[in-house]
Amino acid sequence: MSKLICHQKADTNRYALVGGTAILPDRLIENAYVEWIQGRLTRVSQIPKRIAKEVQLFDATGRYVSPGWVDIHVHGGGGADFMDGQVQAISTACLTHLRHGTTTIFPTTTTGSQESILRMIDAVDTTIRMSDSGLQTIQGVHLYGPYFTPEKSGCHRKQGCRVPVRSEYERYFKTGRIAIATCAAELDGCIEFYRYAKKQGCLVTCGHSNSSWTEMAKAHSNGMTHVDHFWCAMSSVASVRTRLGTPMQGSMLEFVLAHETMSTEVIADGYHLSPELLQFAWQMKKPSMLCLVSDTSRALDMPAGEYAFGHPDENVWIHSDGKVGLSPTGGLASSVVALDHCVKHMFKVTKIPLWEIVRMASLTPAQRTGIDRQCGSLEVGKRADVLVLDKNLRVQKVYYTSGGCAL
Ligand SMILES: [Zn+2]
Ligand SMILES: [Zn+2]
Repeated sequence: MSKLICHQKADTNRYALVGGTAILPDRLIENAYVEWIQGRLTRVSQIPKRIAKEVQLFDATGRYVSPGWVDIHVHGGGGADFMDGQVQAISTACLTHLRHGTTTIFPTTTTGSQESILRMIDAVDTTIRMSDSGLQTIQGVHLYGPYFTPEKSGCHRKQGCRVPVRSEYERYFKTGRIAIATCAAELDGCIEFYRYAKKQGCLVTCGHSNSSWTEMAKAHSNGMTHVDHFWCAMSSVASVRTRLGTPMQGSMLEFVLAHETMSTEVIADGYHLSPELLQFAWQMKKPSMLCLVSDTSRALDMPAGEYAFGHPDENVWIHSDGKVGLSPTGGLASSVVALDHCVKHMFKVTKIPLWEIVRMASLTPAQRTGIDRQCGSLEVGKRADVLVLDKNLRVQKVYYTSGGCAL
């Protein structure tokens, strides 16, 4: 289990990790010196000739020094789902991911009822306001469900899928806590939703959708710039043909690949996508427009067994075999791993340079959500969210800024 070390606002000490291999967005630095004061990075370089006496040094020789992970699509962990809607559950799920190196997290909703989504946002809000929570930065909620098309609901409750109605989503946005907003691009009212979400400063995305190229184009010109978990619960030429007939039309897949301004994400847990698909997504979208996401259910760090997906009242049950989540019909139903596993897996099965893999789990999601001035890479001035990884990329230590407050 990784060792967590947090720095609080009052912590005026000067710390530095010395002698490791620092992972920057575009290269590695050997014999690195990564220093921070009061939870802010103050120097990232090779070991300097002189180091001030007051700096507390930690030896990182033979290890990597990485930015903390930024997870934009995550449902739970440690037995808790964010949709449980209680501070205790939010804390448990966050802490479980923190131990795996996730220092910035976006709790993600399901197709639950309006009341349960509001309860979840409220619990997240309360947790963020707790200055003594000891948690990583909870950047905001990913309003993921409920605006999915029922035919692509995946493991989410089909009956919970609905069209976006302003009187409903306005209540979510008015909390000021929605940072990412998803809606299927073929639903009535989606354009108004996209415009509204864009105005709120959200990363606007399309997921659990069977939309065509034409619908995607309209969505894109109204602010939608990202697609959730590429290849999973999204349209293909064949599925659009089944829905809209011939002539065959482009789908979400072609639209994302054809547009440099569209980003997407992959679940690199080793069970959702094969190595060639992971490599292909990186090749096509480059590390600047591809994020790694965990899409973890509450089964992370729990024994194999049956688990509720979302709030237990939604009555959606998945089976974890300890490796991946499965729906009762045998389909895939979320991962049971965190981003550290996804980084390790990408490194093992693809030929992608390590710094680009790490970038896809840190800087790219930070850029896509507009928080890259605060976090996402080892850069002077950013939060000291720093991981020490061993040579097998296992998380050994997590330094992070506690309490969700911007220092
Ligand atoms: Zn999904
Ligand atoms: Zn999901």
